[in-house]
Amino acid sequence: MTTKQAQIMVVTPHPDDAEFGVAGTVVRLVSEGKNVIYVVCTNGDKGSSDMNIKPEELVKIREQEQLAAAKVLGVREVIFLHHPDQSLEDTPEFRKEIVRLIRMYRPEVVITADPYRRYLWHRDHRIAGQVTLDAVFPYARDHLAYPDLMEEGLKPHKVKEVWLWASEDINYRSDVTNTFDIKMAALRCHKSQIGDNPSPERKKWLRQWAEELAEGEDFELAEAFHRVEARQ
Ligand SMILES: [Zn+2]
Repeated sequence: MTTKQAQIMVVTPHPDDAEFGVAGTVVRLVSEGKNVIYVVCTNGDKGSSDMNIKPEELVKIREQEQLAAAKVLGVREVIFLHHPDQSLEDTPEFRKEIVRLIRMYRPEVVITADPYRRYLWHRDHRIAGQVTLDAVFPYARDHLAYPDLMEEGLKPHKVKEVWLWASEDINYRSDVTNTFDIKMAALRCHKSQIGDNPSPERKKWLRQWAEELAEGEDFELAEAFHRVEARQ
């Protein structure tokens, strides 16, 4: 069991969201010796504007892209939950899947999409974020929540912090000045999403976005989060 443990668990709705939201921070954490794992909730089978592509082809491509990006970042393991794209719901089954993984890997920090972003926000992002927050507290923590998981040996676990990317209520800015290029290299693995070679405009936009997120800090480029200390 101990070999499975990871200090950081990133729960991403689709293949590629984590690269946009947290990849620069992941590289920094890995360089500090942290074990980072990814949990990819959906298979991304609707994420294409190519009218000729079959969903099952797209799934294979996106899994390979996600594995390649994770390798670039130094992520130890990628767990695919294989839910169809645009299908996440806040169900007891999905919640239990996340609780199971939290109890298995016992992370200190869980990172996911902020479910409270307003208006137009991908439903899968909203649901993944909400279900992950609920899984952290109280379901992963309370031993009476899932007696069957206890019987499997999956004891309760208290996550210390949750970081939410794409938040409208930023309270933590992570320095990615030295890791931004590796973030870009990981993003380039998602060719089905951003093309073979991201346009100069897109590169410029991503850099400007990181600069804006670093505003008020003494570093140049940032990823930003709403950081929540979990109740004990
Ligand atoms: Zn997404």
